[in-house]
Amino acid sequence: MEIALRPEIHSYSGGLGILAGDTARSCADLELPVVFVSLASRAGYLRQEIAPDGSQVGYDDPWEPSEWATPLDAMIAVSVEGRSVWIRPWLYVVACPLGHLVPVLLLDTDLDQNAPEDRSITDHLYGGDDVYRLKQEVVLGVGGVRTLQALGFSIRTYHLNEGHAALLTLELLRRRRRSGPNGLEHEVDHVRDVCVFTTHTPVEAGHDRFSYEHVRRVLGDDFIAPDEIRPLAGEDRLNMTRLALNLSGYVNGVARRHAETTQRMFPGYRIAAITNGVHAPTWTHAGFAELYQGILPNWGHEPELLVRADQLPDEEVWAAHQAAKHELLDEVRRRTGISMDQNAPLIGFARRMTGYKRPDLLFSDMQRLRSLAAKFPFQVVVAGKAHPRDTQGQQIIRDVHARMRQLSPEIRMAFLPNYDMALARTLVAGTDVWLNTPLPPLEASGTSGMKAALNGVLNLSVLDGWWIEACVEGVTGWSIGRDGPEGAEQHGRDLYDKLEGEVLPLYYHDRAGWIRMMKQGISKIASYFNSQRMMRRYTTEAYVRP
Ligand SMILES: *Cc1c(COP(=O)(O)O)cnc(C)c1O
Repeated sequence: MEIALRPEIHSYSGGLGILAGDTARSCADLELPVVFVSLASRAGYLRQEIAPDGSQVGYDDPWEPSEWATPLDAMIAVSVEGRSVWIRPWLYVVACPLGHLVPVLLLDTDLDQNAPEDRSITDHLYGGDDVYRLKQEVVLGVGGVRTLQALGFSIRTYHLNEGHAALLTLELLRRRRRSGPNGLEHEVDHVRDVCVFTTHTPVEAGHDRFSYEHVRRVLGDDFIAPDEIRPLAGEDRLNMTRLALNLSGYVNGVARRHAETTQRMFPGYRIAAITNGVHAPTWTHAGFAELYQGILPNWGHEPELLVRADQLPDEEVWAAHQAAKHELLDEVRRRTGISMDQNAPLIGFARRMTGYKRPDLLFSDMQRLRSLAAKFPFQVVVAGKAHPRDTQGQQIIRDVHARMRQLSPEIRMAFLPNYDMALARTLVAGTDVWLNTPLPPLEASGTSGMKAALNGVLNLSVLDGWWIEACVEGVTGWSIGRDGPEGAEQHGRDLYDKLEGEVLPLYYHDRAGWIRMMKQGISKIASYFNSQRMMRRYTTEAYVRP
């Protein structure tokens, strides 16, 4: 549903889209024969401003496809509520520095041929109601298959990145049924053979479900009758995750723990694990890129080489970090007028503002926070958007602002509005400590901590998602609390204890020890948690199967 190609193209909202973009960038690097399909999302997701009282104010975030992409001379139609909805793809080309190209098709219904209400189907990413969402998923899944066919692509494997595109399995099934005399079971096997499904969230609400009444109204009866879909997608409602699980021959979660959690949510399916990674050249600050280039010239293509980053000279690592931090502090001043101290530790927290990510955990004991800051002065930058319908998330943004006001001016704190790909690049390089406080086991993977590690920023995180696999206590970063869901209500105290007992004393009293950890983080994390390794695994384990 989303892909982050570059900051100016607003066809993404957060981690899922960033991951899709990093996947495309690594496919280009690795010269994999792939094509990506997503929606144009002309109106974007959400441009965030913060009102004086700390409330999020959301606006459309439009972008102009013709400035970045080429309209292709092909149109196909899907049937929506009995009308033909025409779809035209825009072509965006992802290029790797060595010259390999990967096509990305952004589907667009804003065409003269369409009824006015249908022209806006591909406008708002994660906007509108259930019916709007279902129409988008018809365009993405059914329209995606038809677009690829119209353009002459011959697809061996369809990789469903999250359940949003799962209707493509029904389109494949429908085509097979029309062309052959075989029974449904045989056709299901064929579709399974060509489909791969990656699930991205253990949060129940993250799985799309549509009532069969809506499905019938939108898709019509001549697509596939609801009675035939029910055994594949759920009796009461069409569950896109179920549908994808039933019609994919390979299913995976995005970290080891997430695969285990998914396995428990959906017993009876085999759920593999391919842990996420990030595209190293995209997320590495220019100063660190230069350092890596000096000792490991092929690091961008082969980020495994970063395993030797522990050989970098301490002074150069520290200087590159200070430069990145300086840039971030400039950005903080420019956006908020707040001046921060280059020499005081800077804690960064940038996440989707939603309940399970617990953005307010750091502020849970104001007294403790104050006494901690009196002992070891530190400063905090926060960023993140709440979905316009997530009222709890919006309240968290207000609460965080209120707390930050109460702590000012004793503790310097800034909220940077409109967290996006460009701001993320500055934040993951320029902070000293990257904080992550999800409620286990709800963080499927998380990727921003991997970006931080590429830049020598130290992770301080609850043991969930990818961090379970990456954390070597006191070596690559620090944990908050123990592994597993027990004791989560004490994570606030665990966080303060870790800051007071380990993180802040190390920063103030043992700079060499801090830099040693920075280098260990780069070497042990960046060499593995990159999208090059991730795509090699998808290729050999999911796309090419025995
Ligand atoms: C990397 C990134 C994310 C994902 O971060 P998490 O670690 O999953 O919270 C979200 N938004 C932006 C803009 C990013 O760059």
